[in-house]
Amino acid sequence: MGLPVKRHTSSKRKRRRSHLGLQECNLVKCSHCGNQALSHRVCGECGYYKNIQVVDVFAKLDKKEKKKKEKELTMKGKEVVKKEKELAINEKEIEKSVKEITKEKKKTNDLLKNKKK
Ligand SMILES: [Zn+2]
Repeated sequence: MGLPVKRHTSSKRKRRRSHLGLQECNLVKCSHCGNQALSHRVCGECGYYKNIQVVDVFAKLDKKEKKKKEKELTMKGKEVVKKEKELAINEKEIEKSVKEITKEKKKTNDLLKNKKK
């Protein structure tokens, strides 16, 4: 049996283990339920891929669990839609306020010019 010839130092050990770190995986929002899912894979939560049902998530569940899961999925979908709407509204408000501010700036600039004359 092979035996280690020399003891490896702690720095040698650390250098060896520097390549063992985990990489961050690329998560994408599911187009059906809005959950985080791996890209180019079927969503683990709802079983959809590119808005087509590939896996029947409810097949192995009891009646109670089925009801629970259905409720969860609908709630999540509704929440996602709500949040997207809120974001869109916020963006519109921001655009409006920016426009108003630019208008006021122009007005003040004009006033300043008139005063200088
Ligand atoms: Zn999904």
